[in-house]
Amino acid sequence: HRVLLTGGNGFIGSHILAQLLDYGCTVCCTVRTEEKGDKILKDFAGQQSQISIKIVPDIVASGAYHTAVQATPTFDTVYHTASPFTYTNVESNLEFLEPAIKGTLNLLKAVKDNAPSVQRVIWTGSCASVIDYNNLVSDPARIYTEADWNPVTWDEAVHGDPSKAYRASKLFAEREAWKFMEEEQPSFDLVTLTPPATFGPLRHSIASIGELNESNSRLWKLCLNSTKDAPVPYMPVHTYVDVRDLAIAQLKAMTVPEAGNQRFIVCAKQFDFQDVCDILRSHFAELEERTPLGKPGTRSLPAGAYGIDNSKVKQFLGLEPRSLEDTVLDVARYMLDLGRKE
Ligand code: NDP
Repeated sequence: HRVLLTGGNGFIGSHILAQLLDYGCTVCCTVRTEEKGDKILKDFAGQQSQISIKIVPDIVASGAYHTAVQATPTFDTVYHTASPFTYTNVESNLEFLEPAIKGTLNLLKAVKDNAPSVQRVIWTGSCASVIDYNNLVSDPARIYTEADWNPVTWDEAVHGDPSKAYRASKLFAEREAWKFMEEEQPSFDLVTLTPPATFGPLRHSIASIGELNESNSRLWKLCLNSTKDAPVPYMPVHTYVDVRDLAIAQLKAMTVPEAGNQRFIVCAKQFDFQDVCDILRSHFAELEERTPLGKPGTRSLPAGAYGIDNSKVKQFLGLEPRSLEDTVLDVARYMLDLGRKE
């Protein structure tokens, strides 16, 4: 396969890149600057011959991807992961919404107009476009499937708090992507993957804990570097997937023909921060003062907290999620090592 990958320098994008390279693909990564491209080449030093870099400075600009999608030999698959997911230095909700939506549409349009050889576009969404964040607990607990959509409105997206804007950016971008497919009837098909909170060791290099991506950084703050006595009792985000399992599913999204024009929630299961803290405290003596004790062995999530049905992704893409313990221990070892080097 010859693949174009956007956001290959990010947390999830670099794991997808690793899967694609190991599978034998050649991959062209689009990034915003030359430095970011050089860093990818450095991080994947042993596989540089399979990688090329193209600079797309502004994914919001009209025609942003028109040149990037053209190549000799031509691409057959496109992965889109580039989308804002950081709350640092954000001044307006549009900083989430515009790159997510326009970036997606610019890419789809470029592929349709300038890359007729592409057979499939694989788009990284989020459970943020699935879950109704105003109804997190119910009796009985709601179990979400691929048929569900976050009912957030554009008005809430623009005027709500930044987390609403992030979630809405994923919702509206995915809505627009499917609408594009319906209206434009391009010759390629679309696969959307909507993972929940994604945790795991990084594949790309960073210099400090401060550079951790958003989801791992939350885990660090809440469970490995906390001053609280008890784990967060409840979060709207209490389902997860390991980034390595997500990346395997992303690869399958390219190789499994039946995945075409399907939406997949790539989720392991519900998790409880008390469980995460129990695992951490029983393995790392150094976390005694930094990981909340809470009430070991109990549940901090309320009864009726929503869950996710992952049967579709298991059936089509063969997802076999590793255990919560494996994920927590691997990412904790990674973060503790990084913290020690600072
Ligand atoms: P990262 O922040 O590590 O990666 C984000 C990627 O998107 C980077 O390559 C970044 O490039 C690029 N990007 C961000 N904003 C822009 C912009 N305005 N213009 C161009 N490129 C941009 O985050 P993740 O790897 O976690 O996120 C990747 C995707 O996965 C996103 O679409 C996110 O919504 C989705 N996701 C993540 C989850 C998680 O828990 N981590 C869960 C569910 C979905 P640059 O380095 O130039 O900023």
